[in-house]
Amino acid sequence: MTPQHKTKIEILLCTKIKTIHPVGGGCIANACQVLTEKEEKFFYKSYSNNEILKCEINGLNELHLAKNIKIPKVIIAEDDFALMEFIDQSNRDKNFFETFGRSFAQLHKYCSDNFGFYENNFIGANRQVNQPISNNWTEFYFQNRLLYQFKLAEKNGYVDNNFRDLFYRLENRIDSILTGCENIPSLLHGDLWSGNYLCDEDGAACLIDPAVYYGNREADLAMTKLFGGFDTSFYSAYNEEYKLPNDWKYRENIFILYHVMNHLNLFGTSYYSQTISIIKNYVK
Ligand code: ADP
Repeated sequence: MTPQHKTKIEILLCTKIKTIHPVGGGCIANACQVLTEKEEKFFYKSYSNNEILKCEINGLNELHLAKNIKIPKVIIAEDDFALMEFIDQSNRDKNFFETFGRSFAQLHKYCSDNFGFYENNFIGANRQVNQPISNNWTEFYFQNRLLYQFKLAEKNGYVDNNFRDLFYRLENRIDSILTGCENIPSLLHGDLWSGNYLCDEDGAACLIDPAVYYGNREADLAMTKLFGGFDTSFYSAYNEEYKLPNDWKYRENIFILYHVMNHLNLFGTSYYSQTISIIKNYVK
């Protein structure tokens, strides 16, 4: 934390800061625990790219609107740093994932009229395009998610003839692959994996680091499976609270594909074969 940020926090909170401890475990942010002389704890965060911070804060504030799952409150939002509620963590009890699944389903009941969001934001360090195209989820998902990542992959030099050919075949099949999807713009966390939730001191899930937009809820659930998935009680409680269409399983990988292509663009060719194999399975 810079001395300027420290002074600003002290002025805005009307108290002196007693200690500042770096918090590890994140991917890109500079994060600290701040303890004031009033014995209040806060979570400080800054990025080298201030726009990522702004989008994260706007995403957290949007998730707050749904009022059905714990989100850290944003206390101070400046251009180049934010101060949030500090989430003290505890161990997950046996009901953790069941309660989490239910509240995640409730989050998805919070809807908008349109797919997208009022601003583009970030998925990892890459742009996530949220401009509404039409009220058609298939069109939104193909244009703003898959095609955007494909064009980025072309720019990054990851697209060979095989990939190009398969992707064009996928484009031709996308309407039929996504038939059966609900056309409901639900509020999505957008990037939910095990590093993006905490278990708070009451044992409840608290969502962090969102890449918020209004989209089809199957996309949010698919992301949770990218690195192996959560406990099965999460998914059964979700489905009890807000039943999924019968053929959701068939579409799971098409929604995972966006994140795999994003990882290809962020981390390179180790994600190439997973990209190809998902597409192949849908076009064969
Ligand atoms: P990054 O954006 O770089 O991934 P994170 O938001 O994941 O950074 O934060 C880094 C670390 O801080 C992680 O270990 C995470 O668990 C923890 N953390 C994130 N938000 C809070 C919070 N509000 N209170 C307490 N710890 C937090």
